[in-house]
Amino acid sequence: MFRSISWQLQFSYGLLVLLALLALGFFGFLHQQSKVYQEVDRDLQTRSKQISSMLVRHDLKGIGAAAHLESGVKALPPLPGTSKDSQPNPNRFYQVWKFESDNFEILFQNGTIPTDTHPPKHPRDIPQAGITSTLGAHRQLLTRAVRNYVILVGEDISDQQQGLSHFLLKMILGEALFFIIFLSMGYWLTQKALSPIKQISSTAQTIAEGNLSERIPPDAGSTELQDLSQVLNHSFDRLEDHLLRQQHFTAVASHELRTPITAILAAAQSKPETIEELRSTLDSCAGTARSMKQLVDQLLELTRLDNEVRQPLPRELVDLDILVDQCVQTARSAAEEKSITLTTELAMIQCQVNPVAITQIIHNLLSNAIAYTEPNGHVQIRLTETCDHYEIDIEDNGIGIAPDHLPHIFDRFFRANRSRSDFDSNHFGLGLAISQEIAKAHGGEIYVQSQIGQGSTFSLRLPK
Ligand code: ADP
Repeated sequence: MFRSISWQLQFSYGLLVLLALLALGFFGFLHQQSKVYQEVDRDLQTRSKQISSMLVRHDLKGIGAAAHLESGVKALPPLPGTSKDSQPNPNRFYQVWKFESDNFEILFQNGTIPTDTHPPKHPRDIPQAGITSTLGAHRQLLTRAVRNYVILVGEDISDQQQGLSHFLLKMILGEALFFIIFLSMGYWLTQKALSPIKQISSTAQTIAEGNLSERIPPDAGSTELQDLSQVLNHSFDRLEDHLLRQQHFTAVASHELRTPITAILAAAQSKPETIEELRSTLDSCAGTARSMKQLVDQLLELTRLDNEVRQPLPRELVDLDILVDQCVQTARSAAEEKSITLTTELAMIQCQVNPVAITQIIHNLLSNAIAYTEPNGHVQIRLTETCDHYEIDIEDNGIGIAPDHLPHIFDRFFRANRSRSDFDSNHFGLGLAISQEIAKAHGGEIYVQSQIGQGSTFSLRLPK
């Protein structure tokens, strides 16, 4: 589960949102707290200044005449702006020390002073702006006044602290709500973004289970995923096509092999009565077996060509005209049997080719030209060169190929005229398919032009 993209995306997204919300909450709370403390501090500053100016303006003896407190420490007269009768604010306090002979002596105080409040060692330890601090629920300000007086003003801020706690609680609840909303949105977005991938994988699964015609809808997901779907669909098309062709090939190959096997079985079951009959049966069996061997050899060659990774065949420097001429000489006796004239028109060409592969192709094309040309016909072989390729044309004035047969001429087991190509003549309809595969493995291709009753021209084009 933790390895799934969906989980990892959601985890990263959730973590990012959580960190962002925590940072927001942390700085938001600090901001609110400093706002509240700044307000309290302003008030403390004002009161501290008021006490300080009273200390300067009033006769200290007069102040001393004010009511004694139980502790024996006096209280200052009411601060400016407050009437004598007004009730002192119970949340506020102050204390005034006098520094004399290395000692602090409390002169005046009012309100409840926190017990852990102490003056510094010396008034000069107090900076000009004073020392602001928070002690539990109290906020206080220590300042230095004239004549070594030290003033402490403070305030109980438990109300403000409670306000801040409420603020914090509300913020945590708000952020939790936001977190849940963001997380749900993230989940929705992730699922939406990943659903095409799930669709792709389920389609691939269906295809793997054997439903080869299944395809990914082309409009699935984002542009990138649509591109991926297109590539995959194209691969599935090719895979399906390849498998169907493979199935067809196997079916046809089995069918082709059935005919000779049946013939051999029939011959084996016949009961020859004379030695001559027996010899003729054995000869017929041997002939059929030879044809079978030739068919099996061609099937094996095609399988080998199919399995080989398409890579250029090893080449060597060859006199192409000499090689073509040798092929023509080999075919001459078969042509003479049908009184077919072979003429050549060969340019002198030296090039890098695989001689065995080229010989096999020329041999196939030449034997076809002779086989499908009526007696007294004519076959011409040309070797030419253009700026980017070499071309070997084999042109005959034979029976030609019907236009609707032309697109299938290189298909395996294709025979335009089945009556001519029976098993004994070894025309299995594989020669052109093998030649085309070899030409492609050599980086080239075979093209055909033909007119029924007029003849055909097969051209092997090899890139330079
Ligand atoms: P085959 O071994 O049966 O000749 P090929 O693959 O060589 O198989 O040829 C496939 C089919 O193409 C042949 O059966 C024939 O019908 C047709 N064909 C090939 N070459 C020629 C040609 N020169 N003239 C007319 N038809 C041809």
